[in-house]
Amino acid sequence: MRYAIFGDIHANLEALEVVLADARAHGVAEFVCLGDVVGYNANPRECLQLVRDLGCPVVKGNHDEEACNERQIDGLNPYAEEALNWTRNQLSADDKGWLSQLRLVRQIRDFTAVHATLDSPGAWGYVMNRFDAMASFAYQFTPVCFCGHSHVAGVFVKADRVFEAEPTSFAIEPAQKYFVNVGSVGQPRDGDWRASYVIYDPEEKHLVFRRLEYDLATAQKKIRAAGLPEMLAERLAVGS
Ligand code: ZN
Repeated sequence: MRYAIFGDIHANLEALEVVLADARAHGVAEFVCLGDVVGYNANPRECLQLVRDLGCPVVKGNHDEEACNERQIDGLNPYAEEALNWTRNQLSADDKGWLSQLRLVRQIRDFTAVHATLDSPGAWGYVMNRFDAMASFAYQFTPVCFCGHSHVAGVFVKADRVFEAEPTSFAIEPAQKYFVNVGSVGQPRDGDWRASYVIYDPEEKHLVFRRLEYDLATAQKKIRAAGLPEMLAERLAVGS
């Protein structure tokens, strides 16, 4: 049984459709969404509906949390804040209700799903180095944990020490633990503009990172037509 693990869609419909089609073409039967379905880009309703229709486990991201309540947004950059205020006006009460009931952490088969970190999932910290990874590993009770949030695809491995591995394709070794950032579907920030996600096979103990081109020009055109900040259209092209 193959799983597609994906997140940080951020309302980028063109990227999400390409990811779902690619996953199905690779024999994926199950999906897991790591949150931040909305925010930044121009199709929050459509992306939310597509994810809901999958009927799959979904964990809550910080943008999901901000989009479904009415409190003053703080702690986010001004572009994110502007996009979230716009997003709040796009979503129905039912959409917001669905977002608000999402859990922060889910366990599926032999793996865990979280948006940010396992040591404090609701504080939205970032795992950017092996010290951050060590803090999260202390709360990881499955061989593999998948996360998003930084929009940077990457892997931390815990053996007799914690080290960083390349986000390519590899076999899961039984004596090790893995903290895997699947990258972002809709707004990658690792210098590669292509949509990122992971295919994981728990039986084969194998994991592969996928990067896919999508219709960038259409996604950008929609951002501009919606009156969202120009910078949000520009950053998609450079993956930053
Ligand atoms: Zn995000």
